[in-house]
Amino acid sequence: MSLRRPLVLVGPSGAGKTTIAECLVRRHPERFRFSVSATSRAPRGSERSGREYSFISREEFEEMIASGELAEWAQVHGEYYGTPVENLTGLTEAGPVPVLDIDVQGARQVMRRGIDALVIFILPPAAAPWLARLTGRGTESPEGIVRRLRTAREELGEATTFEEFVVNQDLHEAVRQVLEIADGGAGEGACDRRVEALCRELDAGAAVEIARIRGRGTADEIRKEET
Ligand code: ADP
Ligand code: 5GP
Repeated sequence: MSLRRPLVLVGPSGAGKTTIAECLVRRHPERFRFSVSATSRAPRGSERSGREYSFISREEFEEMIASGELAEWAQVHGEYYGTPVENLTGLTEAGPVPVLDIDVQGARQVMRRGIDALVIFILPPAAAPWLARLTGRGTESPEGIVRRLRTAREELGEATTFEEFVVNQDLHEAVRQVLEIADGGAGEGACDRRVEALCRELDAGAAVEIARIRGRGTADEIRKEET
């Protein structure tokens, strides 16, 4: 059975949502297309308007909110992000479904509005590789990393309220699991103790990293303080 619902990927920054979405679209263009969000943040590196995001001003974004052009929107890390309604309309039996790479608040709005979407929470496999990926991407300043880790801690706290999880250790395996869930297969399950324990580990790792970047104490001292 092929997925006919929009696919929503949520999870902490650096979990691999964008990478997984790109992989799905590249490998299965007949099944998936990337939902290009609007944002008020400035483009990074080689990002181009209309490809990664539609880069617009805060005023233009506020006009889109006022005129009901957004299916969901949120302020993330101080900037506006949102999904244009038109990204979710015009789904046909044969055409590809949109893949949304959005934050937890946005995913909740999608569900609240009764949009029939498949929401999958993407988790990194452990704190150390997660933090290495987040910093290794080279796109964020230390303050940017701290902001993302703070948001990540909030999102991890809500993780178990979602129903489907994929742990992104090996990218190909993660993409395979997303496809399996999209095809109606069983996911990890909200009550899976492994997911809960992983979220706790990631949260503790994020707390230590935030404190390290802000330059107070050794990792051991920080761990003691945070627990
Ligand atoms: P997100 O969209 O969730 O913020 P990204 O897709 O930007 O995360 O991934 C963060 C970084 O981790 C990127 O540099 C990406 O190339 C890398 N990455 C993603 N998945 C994996 C994986 N399974 N193994 C190793 N590196 C990965
Ligand atoms: P980044 O600036 O790193 O590209 O994205 C920051 C965060 O914004 C990520 O968690 C991403 O999932 C989220 N995001 C991107 N587009 C949207 C969107 O259209 N709506 C919402 N709610 N969040 C988004």
